[in-house]
Order: sequence, then structure tokens, then C-alpha cells
Amino acid sequence: MDYLSTRDSTLKVKASEAIVAGLAPGGGLFVPADELDRLKLSDLPANCYQALAAKVLEPLLSGFSPVQIKVAVNSAYGAHSFDHQLITPLKKLQKGEHVLELWHGPTAAFKDLALQLLPHLLKTALKVSGFDKEMVILTATSGDTGKAALEGFRDVPGFKILVFYPDKGVSEIQKLQMVTQEGENVAVAAVKGNFDDTQRIVKELFSDENLAQDLARKGYQLSSANSINWGRLAPQIVFYFQAWLSLLEKKEIAPGEKVNFVVPTGNFGNILAGFYARRLGLPVRKLICASNENNVLYDFIRTGVYNSNRALNLTLSPSMDILVSSNLERLLYELSGADPEKISSWMSELQEKGLYRVDQNTLEEINRLFYAGYAGDEKTLFTINKVYRDFNYLIDTHTAVAKAVLDQYRQETKDLTPAVILSTASPFKFAGSVMQALGGSSAVKDKTELEIFNELATLTRINPPKNLEHLGLREIKFKQVIAPTEARHHLLKTLHLA
Ligand SMILES: *Cc1c(COP(=O)(O)O)cnc(C)c1O
Repeated sequence: MDYLSTRDSTLKVKASEAIVAGLAPGGGLFVPADELDRLKLSDLPANCYQALAAKVLEPLLSGFSPVQIKVAVNSAYGAHSFDHQLITPLKKLQKGEHVLELWHGPTAAFKDLALQLLPHLLKTALKVSGFDKEMVILTATSGDTGKAALEGFRDVPGFKILVFYPDKGVSEIQKLQMVTQEGENVAVAAVKGNFDDTQRIVKELFSDENLAQDLARKGYQLSSANSINWGRLAPQIVFYFQAWLSLLEKKEIAPGEKVNFVVPTGNFGNILAGFYARRLGLPVRKLICASNENNVLYDFIRTGVYNSNRALNLTLSPSMDILVSSNLERLLYELSGADPEKISSWMSELQEKGLYRVDQNTLEEINRLFYAGYAGDEKTLFTINKVYRDFNYLIDTHTAVAKAVLDQYRQETKDLTPAVILSTASPFKFAGSVMQALGGSSAVKDKTELEIFNELATLTRINPPKNLEHLGLREIKFKQVIAPTEARHHLLKTLHLA
């Protein structure tokens, strides 16, 4: 399969080129150039994630040989990085309701599924293209992405990675995860300010042409590995198949039976992978898009108006605190007749006015397949508590948003199609909120997040992910807090160029 830009159909590239480029020239996103061939479900292995990943990804990854893909997935999804043999195990809550645990990787959040594989794909693609520089991955993070990228790129030959995080704006556990990062090619710095400040300085570094030339002379090139890269989207398609195959294997569904997926959504990457899984032949009835109080997507799916002109709420599910869901552009392209001019005009309206309205046909197409709901913080806490009491099962705040929306969906539509809730983070990663849900505000008052973490393990008798244990005892390697104006200098210093 080759790839086109959502904003320019004259350009056609191989997957390997799309992954190296990230964004298409002119600002579009790469999408499959032709209709996807449906995979034969009975040919797919249910009990070997690596073999399944190779089968699903092979037709999508042009420019890579089957052997290269196998090597990459075996390196990415092994026992050294995932603490469950099935990689993404499926747990049954009750009849017709299942949870897909996407947090058994090194950072205990679902971004590992993509960021463990992407570095291997990128490394291979660069080698094939004869690229002779060292790639410097530069990332701004509000928490989960930075750590997942650090773990993915650590000690991968040909790469260095520098992560900036806002000194105010990540949780204590997320911060500890990053500042204790191991690896020879990694660096982390706090930036004075909030996430917007941090993101802005990274964008400035990327658009600084002098810097790019300077770095090129010294043998370096910047790259971002961010979530619009096709190399991050494609790996997420695999676990939708894995979930369905597990249901079949456990006789929870019949061959060919359709399933609903409920996805806690921020940038629209994860749920879009579900859309492509369906195009590849996975029997999906509805994709249920779950938002928190930042419910831009809910409004959009109900009305056809995407309106980002509103204040960002900081919620208990911070990885979904997003007003512009970049990956939605791909869905619009796929469901509005693959017309680059339409997409370009909507995206420039978004840029200029902060909003756009899609045509009636596109809206109907979206509604045929997607349902949208949202849940605020109070509902989120209530849901964590209820799921724990009803099923003796602990979920994090993001997963709780999805569960709350599934309950709404079933009440509203009476559709009891077997449902899979995508669980995107370990409850221990958001221990403070989870403990508050179980024990009320008094259970967390005047306690550090690490204390709460330990108490949550004791109270529930659930073992926290190994990678999150003893965070407080690990050596702190990155203490530096820089002003936004020092970012360029800090980058050069990290590369020993200043
Ligand atoms: C990134 C993230 C999400 C949102 O995923 P998108 O692909 O951005 O929609 C949800 N939950 C957690 C825990 C995340 O880290």
C-alpha cells in the first residue's frame, strides 16, 4: 500500500517514506492511496501478538520487506518490554463487556504499543534510504508520550532523544518516570511554564532554519515522532484484531460476529486505528468515541461543526485534554469522498477561525459508524468506584471515561452488541485519582502520589506494573529546569555542540 497526502493527491509515497517524513509537504497527513484489501480472519493467529502484527502490518508497510517487518515486531513486542505474554490481554467484566488492557508495556500506557515499534521502523526506513545523519527526536510532552518515546528510542543506534516537559503540568509519577530514564542516548529537561509553553518552544526549534542547517553540518537532523506519523497509527490497528480474535477464541462471539469498540479519545489516533481495522475486514459495528469534559469531538460528531474556540479544561484524564484532534483529518478525508481540496479548505478554516462545518453527507457517513459521548470528572470517579465494587476490577481515569460512555450508549440505543473497552493506562499511573474514587478526598489528603501509589496496592491487593515500582528509589538523572529561552542552547549542549 502506498500513501497520499490528505491535502494533495498528486503526491504518492511508500509507507517507509511517509514514516520518515511524518507530515506530508504542505501540512497534510498521509493516508492509504487505494482501497485496503480485507484480511482473511481465519488466517490470523490468535495467540501470538508478534505473528499477528506481522500479518496485519505487512500489506500496510510498503518499502519494508517481510523479514524487516518481522524483525521489527519481534524487537518491539517481547518479554523484555511487555509484562504479559499476550501483549494486550482481554479481561471479561460481564457478559458482552470486555476490557482490552493496553498498558502492559514499559511505561504502563497504550502509547507503548506504537512507540515500541516506531523506532525500529524508522531505523530500517532510514537505512534503506541511505540516510547518513544521526536522528534527534525532539518531543514536548504533557506526560505519557514523552516517557513512551524515551523508552522506545533508548539505545537505538542512530538516534538521540530529548524530551521537554512543563515543570508545572505533569504528575509526580510521570515526572519520576522521565527524570529516572535510563539509556545512553536520552535527555530530559523541565521547562518553566505549562504544556503550551513547552510545545511552543519545540515548534520554534523545528521551524528554526538556521538551527537545522547548523545541525545538518554536524551530522544531525531533527524529527518529532509525533502521533500523526503513520508509523504510530498503523501499529495500533493490530490490537483491534487481537481483541476480536480473543473473543472468538473464548467463544464469546461467533465467527464473523460484529463487535463494538469504546475508545477514550484525545488526538483521535487510537479510534482511527479501529476505523482502519474495520476497512481491513474486522467485523466492527460501532466505534464509540469517549471524551472527557473537553468534548469537542462529541459536539462535532453530533452536529458536524468542529469548534475549538473554547477554554481547555484540565481534567482527571489529562491525556485526553485536547481541543484539536489532529488525526480527525484522516477520517474526514476517508469519509468525505477523498477530496484534498475539501480537506484543505476545512483545515484552513480551522487554522483561521478555529472552526469548520462538514457537509451533510460526510456527517451522515460519520454517524453511520461512530457514536460519541462524554463524561466529566465526577462521573469518572463514580465509574471507577462502581467498576471496582461490581467487578473487583480497577480501571484508570481514561478507561473510566470509556466505561461511562458505553453505559450511556447502551441506555440510549439498547444496542447490546458485545463491546470491548480500550483500557489505555494502568490505574497505578493515576493512583491519586483512582484512590480518591475509592476512598474519597480524605483518602488522598496531604499525601504524596508515591504514598498513595503504595496504599492503593495494599488496599486492592493488586500488583502494580513492575516498571512503576520503586520509582522513588531510582537515581534521578535529569534535574535541570530551563527557561523557554534556553531551549536552543540546551539542545546544542545535549548534542555536545555548545
Ligand atoms: C494518548 C492517550 C489517550 C488518547 O489517545 P488518542 O490516540 O490521542 O486519541 C487516551 N488515554 C491515554 C492514557 C493516553 O495516553
